[in-house]
Amino acid sequence: MTTLDTRAVHAGRDDLSALGVHVPPIDLSTTNPLPGVASGGDAYETLATGGTMAGAASAVYQRLWNPTVARFETALAELEGTTDAVAYASGMAALTAALLAATRDGKRHVVAVRPLYGGTDHVLATGLLGTEVSWARPDQVAAAVRPDTALVIVETPANPTLDLVDIAALAAAAGDTPLLVDNTVATPVLQQPARHGATLVLHSATKSIGGHGDVLAGVIACDAEWAARLRQVRAVTGAILHPLGAYLLHRGLQTLPLRVRAQQAGAEKLAAWLAEHPAVERVHHPSAHDPAGLVGRQMSGTGSLLAFEVRGGAPAAAAVADACRLITHAVSLGGVDTLIQHPASLTHRPVEGEAKPCGGLLRISVGLEDPEDLRADLARALGAL
Ligand SMILES: *Cc1c(COP(=O)(O)O)cnc(C)c1O
Repeated sequence: MTTLDTRAVHAGRDDLSALGVHVPPIDLSTTNPLPGVASGGDAYETLATGGTMAGAASAVYQRLWNPTVARFETALAELEGTTDAVAYASGMAALTAALLAATRDGKRHVVAVRPLYGGTDHVLATGLLGTEVSWARPDQVAAAVRPDTALVIVETPANPTLDLVDIAALAAAAGDTPLLVDNTVATPVLQQPARHGATLVLHSATKSIGGHGDVLAGVIACDAEWAARLRQVRAVTGAILHPLGAYLLHRGLQTLPLRVRAQQAGAEKLAAWLAEHPAVERVHHPSAHDPAGLVGRQMSGTGSLLAFEVRGGAPAAAAVADACRLITHAVSLGGVDTLIQHPASLTHRPVEGEAKPCGGLLRISVGLEDPEDLRADLARALGAL
């Protein structure tokens, strides 16, 4: 068995030599020739109900199947240690599909562990997709699960506090109820939730997987049965990823291990430096806070996302974000350039009540710049407080 670094370079490329090419072809066809009415109709039936191209005579229509998207899915599944993956036009489209696929047979109840990404929190809190949510701490999940619970949702490391949750313990607490783990922040390089009992592993591929801030995408790694359900929802709702995006994400996987480890090294240096800074009240990063000892056991590293609380609350945090020059004031994370943002105003703006991030909290997604240059930019921004 090759290592993850090797698989990241070669996954989803097994047939390229036979095709006589070195990089994957991009198939942009929105429609595909049908060999005949009967076989074309059979292919439509298969793909529109969540089946795969194996045995189908035509891809029929891009909303149902695209070979370039399927290649990326094969590669991502290999890195997550699942048999299948299903890719979407965004992370939120993927989450929507997961909720629609899970809420069947009269089950509409979702147990969710906060903090979650603001958009996920918003969809659940509003019940916009017909779900009913119970918020629970990890140790309350077993008690919160009911006969009509369709899904348990958790994010670890959580965004923006970087809290870690024990996935295996949560899977045990969820019992027969499927468990969705949002693995966006860790990436499959640092953590493979399916190996710890997760049923569905969700990514906003917009973040580290794409890695360069130029693709909006989502993907769910899972088993074949869930993949069929998720593809059916995708075909019906029209949320498939565009093949150009799939090509870029597949290329992004090749450098993902290198990028994640280099960005993580920068984040660890910045976290240690921030912890000593007089204007900083508290640093949130798995290198600074891992009470359950999950780094090493569940996660092979600490990741590139960190957050810190400045003294002086929201006005001070806003001043720091405004004063950064090299570091871009922008939402999103996981890319090659460093971004800073104020979660309470932006990514976690819709979050209600005590789950809302505190006013002094700033989140930094550390990129590939020299950590010394990032430190100098932050030192200047914090020095102005
Ligand atoms: C960005 C993000 C999402 C949503 O993904 P989009 O691609 O923006 O739709 C979901 N979960 C996490 C942890 C995220 O960071």
